[in-house]
Amino acid sequence: MTGTSQSRALAAVFHGPRRPLELSEFELPELRAGEVLVEITCSTICGSDLHTIRGDRPVSGPTVLGHEIIGRITQLPADGPPVTDVMGDRLAIGDRVTWAVAASCGTCFFCEHELPQKCDKLFKYGHETVERGALSGGLAEFCHLAPGTAIVKVPKTLSDRVACPANCATATVAGALRIARGCADKSVVIHGAGMLGLTTAAMAATQGATSITVTDLSEQRLVRAMDFGATHTVHIGEDPAVLSNAIRDVTDGRGADVAFEMSGSPTAIEESVDLLRIGGQLVLVGSVFPTRATQLFPEQIIRKLLRIDGVHNYTPIDLTVAIEFLSTATTQYPFESLVGAELTLRELNTAIEGILDADHIRIAVRPR
Ligand SMILES: [Zn+2]
Ligand SMILES: [Zn+2]
Repeated sequence: MTGTSQSRALAAVFHGPRRPLELSEFELPELRAGEVLVEITCSTICGSDLHTIRGDRPVSGPTVLGHEIIGRITQLPADGPPVTDVMGDRLAIGDRVTWAVAASCGTCFFCEHELPQKCDKLFKYGHETVERGALSGGLAEFCHLAPGTAIVKVPKTLSDRVACPANCATATVAGALRIARGCADKSVVIHGAGMLGLTTAAMAATQGATSITVTDLSEQRLVRAMDFGATHTVHIGEDPAVLSNAIRDVTDGRGADVAFEMSGSPTAIEESVDLLRIGGQLVLVGSVFPTRATQLFPEQIIRKLLRIDGVHNYTPIDLTVAIEFLSTATTQYPFESLVGAELTLRELNTAIEGILDADHIRIAVRPR
């Protein structure tokens, strides 16, 4: 079954840090059982892609970057069982979809222990070398989906630009809030007002958090956080007592119910132990790069009955929650405004240096 007359697809290939992405053409694949071909309508470049382009994050190229992708199904395999979305509904040509950043095998130890995001044979979109399959990243006209990819249909009401980050920041946040058993009636602290922090604030607000205190080093980002559901903001960098006093004020001196660490700052992790109430929970999400060691006092953790959880990647259900959340939140919170620039694949080459210097939260890339 096929819905495209094209036999080749354009892709912007990353060859190394600070080098222009090279536009190359690749043959569209012959689909095997469980695979899907999607014509990309939009992808967004996220912080991890920018780290790769800058050379701060080693990625073995050549590769096609970009993992936040929306597109329409143009081809399904002729053989094998029907391909379904995460709800078990059969997919059809023309369906508008997004999918998890990684595909899992379904049979290894971790897949069988409800940790598909840590599958032994994990296949990550936007990370594979060209030799293993060029059309596996977002900066291309088509994406070739592997078997075991959690695919979710995207409703018409959700724009490409808002829907693209669903499979990265939004699903990760949905996973973090799942681990926290939701935010209803909770006082919440969020460290970091980037895409993860803003999304956490908005999701905590829609779940009925009683207070949402967001911290950041940037005043500008804190102003934006108020548009995403924050009830209080605290600028970091001065006296740490300012933050602890602010939390005490909003929690009758008890401390916060839950803290989400979205910035990766070891200091924020250390301070969270003091900010939490007895029986509080710290959810670590932002520390996805090497940092100095943190200094935590085990006695304090034990006496305060604290719980500390790490969240990395997410499960398919989190992606479904992410799409549902964005479908309603897009009218309440200015997610559209987080996309600072929109480019075509061809424009991307000449614009790359400007992009690296700008402070956009997301950059949208359309194939043409
Ligand atoms: Zn991302
Ligand atoms: Zn597996």
